[in-house]
This record gives sequence, C-alpha cells and structure tokens, in this order.
Amino acid sequence: MHSGGVKRAHPRTGAVFDSPVPPGSGWPGDPATPNTAVAADGAQVQSLAEAVDSLVELDALVSVCRACPRLVQWREEVATVKRRSYADEPYWGRPIPGWGAAQPRILVVGLAPAAHGGNRTGRVFTGDRSGDFLFAALHRVGLTNQAVCVDAADGLELYDTRLAAAVRCAPPGNAPNPAERATCAPWLDAEWRLTSRHVRAVVALGGFAWRAALQMIRDGGGSVPKPAPKFGHAATAELAGPHGPVTLIGCYHPSQQNTFTGKLTPAMLDDVFTTAANV
Ligand code: SF4
Repeated sequence: MHSGGVKRAHPRTGAVFDSPVPPGSGWPGDPATPNTAVAADGAQVQSLAEAVDSLVELDALVSVCRACPRLVQWREEVATVKRRSYADEPYWGRPIPGWGAAQPRILVVGLAPAAHGGNRTGRVFTGDRSGDFLFAALHRVGLTNQAVCVDAADGLELYDTRLAAAVRCAPPGNAPNPAERATCAPWLDAEWRLTSRHVRAVVALGGFAWRAALQMIRDGGGSVPKPAPKFGHAATAELAGPHGPVTLIGCYHPSQQNTFTGKLTPAMLDDVFTTAANV
C-alpha cells in the first residue's frame, strides 16, 4: 500500500501530519523546529555534535539529520509506503533522538530504530514487540512508570534511565553499514559527553551496541582495557569513564528472534536491569 502525500491523524492526539513529520509541526515530543540546523554530511554531524551543549539541543539536531543518503531514503520511503496495519497512521520518518532522564544513572544503548517501530512513533524502542519486551522489564525493575509503550504521547516516563541508539535512523534489514555507523557515532559521543557525569551503568543491547559503547567511552576520554572486553549476555566490564568508574553490562538484544526462541527471557532481562540499577 502506498499512502504517500496523504495526511493522517496521530493515533492518540488526533492531530494531522504529513509523513515524514515536518520538524516543529506538533508531533508529541518533537524536539526540533523548522529552524533547527540540518547536518547534511558526516563532517557536519561531527561539528554540530562537538559544539552542542545541552541534551535538548542535541535531540533537536539529531531529529533532523540527513547525513546518510541511503538511510534518509529508506526511512522516508518506509514512512511513505507504511506497513498495511499502520496505513492510517502518520509515520515520523526521521532520526530517533535519545530519550529518558536528563541525568541518567543508566544509559541503555541499542543498535538502530525499527522501520515500523521508532521510525513510526518517533520514540526509540516504541511501537514494536522489542519495545514491549524491553519496557515491561524496565517497569518490573522500577525504572518506568508503566509497562506499556505505544506511541510518543502514551504517558510513559523513564526513571534514572536514558535510551539511545548507536545509529539513529532505521536501516534496511536492521543493518547499517560501517560508513553509516561511523557517520552517526558523534551523536552518541555527544550524548555520552552530556550525560556521563551521572551514568554509573551502560547496558548494551547486543554485540554491536557493546562495541559502540566501548568506542563511545574511548572517544569520551575514558579508558578500555586491551584486548577489549567481549560481549556476552550478563557480561560486565568495569571501565574508567571521564568522571569515574562505569560498569558496562551486556544483554542480548530483545529482538523477536531472541525473545521468541527463548534465547532472551523476561527473567534474564530483569537480571540485567537489576544489576544496572544496583551499580
Ligand atoms: Fe544522521 Fe545518524 Fe541518521 Fe546518519 S544514521 S542520517 S548520521 S541520524
């Protein structure tokens, strides 16, 4: 089904939007305005990310970034064509900023948003089964006010926790290429620079996020032993962050492949977040 050019009502607020959603047009939680600077290539991502001095500004800059042509094309095509079951909804179709506490003790790093999850709702890990599984665990451990995550206006709040993706745009096949990973890394580095004073635990969802988190800590002036600690579920590594010790905790990604097969169970996820909350 192709719904391009047709305005649709947000499923909760009822406000009508184009897909992708224009910056500053009233989408719940949209951090940008029509005047937010747009990074058009990797050099601009780097310079904007290095200069940013607040999470509010960072979120705005991320949410309008256009530095990776293949990912911009994909996220916007998905937002226009849509999945049949969401054909009557507007799709965010933009990069997904980090989300959660401004002074987090726990930073959760994922790989990239899902085409019909975050790329539709505009909020990281929201609107798909992975998010349902993740937020249910966060709620059981006391890190959210509710277990339900549906859209960016559902009232969900994170306590002491911030979520961020290593690559901020939905990639084809959930697989960003190495150049795209490198282009997007300065946004995560900026997120770390602006939050690391408070963060005691970093939870990496999957091996790619683990490596991205190690690089984030290195880039931020921390130190990582050589050889680098290896990813595993519930693996932990005690690292030196720029403001003190930080514990990196590995966790299998809550993808349907892992949760349907029982490779990752709710109890395993609860254990990881309990560990993180107690660091
Ligand atoms: Fe920008 Fe990152 Fe999206 Fe590339 S993946 S367009 S750097 S937000």
